[in-house]
Amino acid sequence: MRTLPGCARELCALTAYPMKKTTGMNRSVTQGWRPATQAVRGGTWRSEHGETSEALFLTSGYTYDDAATVAARFAGDADGMTYSRLQNPTVAMLEERIALMEGSEGCRAQASGMAAMTAALLCQLSAGDHCVAARAAFGSCRWLVDNLLPKFGIETTVIDSAVNAEWEAAIRPNTKVFFFESPANPTLDIVDLEFVCGLARAHGIVTVVDNAFASPALQRPMEFGADVVAYSATKLMDGQGRVLAGAICGTEEFIEETLMPFQRNTGPTLAPFNAWVVLKGLETLDLRARRQSENALALGKMMDGRVARMLHPGLPSHPQYDLATKQMDACGPIFSFHVEDRAQAHAILDALELVDISNNIGDARSLMCHPASTTHAGLSDEDRQEMGVTEGLLRINVGLEDPRDVIDDLDRALSSAGL
Ligand SMILES: *Cc1c(COP(=O)(O)O)cnc(C)c1O
Repeated sequence: MRTLPGCARELCALTAYPMKKTTGMNRSVTQGWRPATQAVRGGTWRSEHGETSEALFLTSGYTYDDAATVAARFAGDADGMTYSRLQNPTVAMLEERIALMEGSEGCRAQASGMAAMTAALLCQLSAGDHCVAARAAFGSCRWLVDNLLPKFGIETTVIDSAVNAEWEAAIRPNTKVFFFESPANPTLDIVDLEFVCGLARAHGIVTVVDNAFASPALQRPMEFGADVVAYSATKLMDGQGRVLAGAICGTEEFIEETLMPFQRNTGPTLAPFNAWVVLKGLETLDLRARRQSENALALGKMMDGRVARMLHPGLPSHPQYDLATKQMDACGPIFSFHVEDRAQAHAILDALELVDISNNIGDARSLMCHPASTTHAGLSDEDRQEMGVTEGLLRINVGLEDPRDVIDDLDRALSSAGL
């Protein structure tokens, strides 16, 4: 009996089914495949039909040949699936693929990015523990830190994640988790992964890295010592604006012993259909992430010096350009910039012809939004100020269109707003 590597036996043992792995039987070879290869082939299991593309198993439950079989599975004595809140073949393929791309022992797919962040924190934090988090973060991630964790007696401290000394100064005897994004949404702050993850290790603190802005195609935080990497797979992994999805990567021990008791009983499970869509998205992730990064760089160069301030990790004008270049294979599709005020920001949005006004990111379409009145509207004025989400901040996701058309559109929109 073989089980998928890095997954608890009860989670995703496919061997009890008439499915076989027709590519990559030799683990010592397949584990060495590079992320772009894993993105196309990692985790592929085929039924007796030998289908080329991954099969979509739309089933909530499973049947058993006899009572002893199901009893053994429930007892954990036999491999095999029991219920799709716990295991599903399509979801298991996605989990193995993401784990192989990330270089992690295990992965569990989640219903959305926020399901992933919530589970990654709540599965390991208890009343009396302390969590240090980056102040620049996706609005809902900040809400978890500012509102949800304290509600359960978990102390939190938010810091300027770009300043290494602030991480060190925030550590208390009860600090259990460091939680941050890099690059961060929407100010593109970069965290020094090697320093912060190393500091955490030295103090027995678990790092939870939200890697949504980079994806494993551009940045693999575990190479720098991260313990847990969590994703909104809605973003670059799907990459075509279709489904919500999330994922948590970690050691097999973390997944089995810490995450699974929480996950199996609370149920933030990814639907098989959404898992299948993300599997298809991953096949082109490397191409998209690199091309979109190139396009974002071309647009950034046109705008640098023309707007009040650029927040673009791919441009030397970014204060952490060297660090971003060291940690990331490319700068990613997203950057932000400051204009004068909300009126000018809204005027630019309203003048766009090609780029859509949308708060999504990672999509193949170029999308732009005004965080202060959308993604970060739920935060207090004070928090927005502290995070650098000013009234004049705009964020853009650069898509796969011909970059000359996107540049022309921004050129026109900026001119019409007097820039
Ligand atoms: C979008 C996003 C999330 C939330 O993901 P959903 O899939 O929308 O739930 C979390 N973190 C970051 C950095 C994001 O961009």
